[in-house]
Amino acid sequence: DTISVGDLAQNMKVKASEVIAKLMGLGVMATINQPVDTDTAMVIAADFGYEVEQGVTEEIGMQMLREAEEGGEQQPRSPVVTVMGHVDHGKTSILDAIRKTDVAHGEAGGITQHIGAYRVRSGAGDVTFVDTPGHAAFTEMRSRGAQVTDIVVLVVAADDGVMDQTREAIHHAQAADVPIIVAVNKIDKDNADIDRVKRELSELNLMPEDWGGETMYCETSAKKNIGIDSLLESIQLLAEILELRADKDRKARGRVIEAQLHKGRGAVATVLIQDGTLHLGEYFVVGQYSGKVRAMLDDKGQNIDQAGPSIPVEVQGLSGVPSAGDEFIVVTDEKMARNVANVRSLKARESELGVKSKISLDKLFEQMSEGDMKELRVVLRSDVQGTLEAFAKAAEDLSTKEIKVKILHEGTGTITESDILLASASDAIIIGFNVRPSIKVKELATTEQVDVRSYDVIYHALDDIRKAMVGLLDPTF
Ligand code: GDP
Repeated sequence: DTISVGDLAQNMKVKASEVIAKLMGLGVMATINQPVDTDTAMVIAADFGYEVEQGVTEEIGMQMLREAEEGGEQQPRSPVVTVMGHVDHGKTSILDAIRKTDVAHGEAGGITQHIGAYRVRSGAGDVTFVDTPGHAAFTEMRSRGAQVTDIVVLVVAADDGVMDQTREAIHHAQAADVPIIVAVNKIDKDNADIDRVKRELSELNLMPEDWGGETMYCETSAKKNIGIDSLLESIQLLAEILELRADKDRKARGRVIEAQLHKGRGAVATVLIQDGTLHLGEYFVVGQYSGKVRAMLDDKGQNIDQAGPSIPVEVQGLSGVPSAGDEFIVVTDEKMARNVANVRSLKARESELGVKSKISLDKLFEQMSEGDMKELRVVLRSDVQGTLEAFAKAAEDLSTKEIKVKILHEGTGTITESDILLASASDAIIIGFNVRPSIKVKELATTEQVDVRSYDVIYHALDDIRKAMVGLLDPTF
């Protein structure tokens, strides 16, 4: 299918020269009578604000609606787990110990591949682990709108107790509304103090079940292989409570865990299937790219021809390398896959130039009035602990009927990249007292559009928040 440049311009009621200029912008030299293919025409039309984008997303929307009407059956799916905790508390060791319990471990031909996530088949049931422990990766995904984790396992060393990154991990998980299971690790050590860990975590809203709270605790030694089975059982138990479900009969949808350009296989992505089943030969859209499933490898490096819910799979046959967190959607045919990808890449180029509208104090009143802001979320940093407490209390007291002030995370010391990602993922602002972000952190704040404010006295910060809430804050620039 083709359309001439002239006809395209006429249909859109714009000058042919404008269409030619747009085409040149895409690297296509054209004259008025030249035919352009439909895909290109759609991209140009979208560029002029025509409803192609809507049309295309509608197509996907219709596809989903049809599937929803066909009413597939929701069946239980296995949980997806991320392990977090302070450095050296034993995240990697626990993941290794868990891996060794896999009944399929060491089966003939099964050589473990690093694809970013893996599945463990245990007596209690299957569990998928995201292979990059730590909250930075977790929150980076979330800042792209991706929520892949059902359960966080928080590892705390019994000889060390709650540390900075333990607190951070808790806040990142809580901001994402993901339930936590605590693994009190290194219980084999002489100076292990399990009660101390429980006490410290209780103060952070993680009261153990045996103390009347709601949080599951497991006592483990990754080194001596103690408590690993009971950790896996707790994960299954919590998964049942969460009633994790998916419909394996519909078209697949998932998220990219990691992606790369592979020497032999071209662009590949590890996709965690969240719903439906992915089959060989199907067409898909992933981020700004499209493709057809040419081959699939599981976490043991084996070729497979289908992958259902909660299964991580390396997909080959992509037109480019997507980003971690990008959505993966199977579509009906190649044309649709290409169209959606074209429009998306165009949008991506536009949004690189344009400004995303993220939360900022300057625009707070506006955003409140539009009714989409009910909470002013704050990540707090200060050089001293006292300021944190005093400010947190006073700021939360500023809450009104219209808007609640909520401190997502607080800590002493400088503003970090992880703070920026948390703020970006949670639509929060950052307030720092007597701390200045490094240049690298500032740059990240700019790309993530996070409002970072530095103050030297509590009073000024409170004053700005109060003014912002009633729309009286003077713009800072
Ligand atoms: P990560 O930084 O959280 O991934 O921690 P690692 O898994 O790398 O473990 C840090 C160190 O603690 C390593 O030297 C491990 O051998 C040790 N370690 C991990 N788990 C245990 C445990 O249960 N008991 C003891 N004694 N040492 C452990």
